[in-house]
Amino acid sequence: MESKLKKRNENPETLAEAGKPPRSRGAGIMVSLAQWVDADYGTTDLAAIRAKPDRVEWVRTLPFLLLHGGCLGVIWVGWSWPAVAVAVGMYLVRMFAITGFYHRYFSHRTFQTSRVAQFVFALMGASAVQRGPLWWASQHRHHHQHADEEADVHSPCRRGFWWSHIGWITSARNFPTAYARVRDLAKFPELVFINRFDSLVPVVLAIVLFLGGNILHSFRPAWGVTGGQLLVWGFFISTTALFHATSSINSMAHLFGSRRYETADNSRNSLLLALITLGEGWHNNHHRHMSAVRQGFFWWEIDISYYVLKGLSWTGVIWDLRPVPRTAYGEPVTAGAGPD
Ligand SMILES: [Zn+2]
Ligand SMILES: [Zn+2]
Repeated sequence: MESKLKKRNENPETLAEAGKPPRSRGAGIMVSLAQWVDADYGTTDLAAIRAKPDRVEWVRTLPFLLLHGGCLGVIWVGWSWPAVAVAVGMYLVRMFAITGFYHRYFSHRTFQTSRVAQFVFALMGASAVQRGPLWWASQHRHHHQHADEEADVHSPCRRGFWWSHIGWITSARNFPTAYARVRDLAKFPELVFINRFDSLVPVVLAIVLFLGGNILHSFRPAWGVTGGQLLVWGFFISTTALFHATSSINSMAHLFGSRRYETADNSRNSLLLALITLGEGWHNNHHRHMSAVRQGFFWWEIDISYYVLKGLSWTGVIWDLRPVPRTAYGEPVTAGAGPD
């Protein structure tokens, strides 16, 4: 595995690549196109890629732009109550997959589960179209290490609101997965596969929704649903809303809200953000105690993802949920408190 990781992108002499002549424009476009399918293609030399200046990689970003463009399909397909219900349902299930699994499990390991369940969690998270679990976790762990410091790739305090909200994910520097930061996850080949071919699950989901809508159109014509409607509402609109809600934690939760703990970063607590992200809005709590499964520390801090995870623990699918440290409740507010 060690050698496989090295091949992937841990070459210690990584900066050697920086001295090579730059790729031609055509070759660069071909690499970006190949990465639509295989996210690890051409990313062996991670340090050289990270050393590049921040700029939008347009070809690589095109599917993300098309995701937004797909919402305009509503002009042609119209709407129906079942289509809107599917959009809301897809939003809620996949938001939970992002917060409960990508964030609280893969990024922070705040509970334990089986290898099979872990694989299912990764598939559910991948359906949210926020790339693979290892990429997500590696970026997020880096965020906690450097929150609101110069090295933080999506700090609104350093790079402005729009860069933290959407710009950073379009930058060539931030596309590769830093496998060295997620060694605990990279030892599972099935997770690496989902991470590498990160468009596979979203494409399958889009096809299933389209076919499902066509089937309903044939067998329940009175409902007024079409394949196009389920594709546009269930996939494009739902996924775009999901992206912006998730991203608001990177941007808004470091700008607006209250601070219970004087952490070294600018993280904030916000009820509104907690409601739209199923619990992630208690971001100052989370930055202070990132190992806790629960982010709303008090009963009035609504944290839907935690309630669902607690329910899952009663079924035996997950266990060893890591509690909020007792010190969190009587802790004096001190400047520069470090995370646990
Ligand atoms: Zn943060
Ligand atoms: Zn976190």
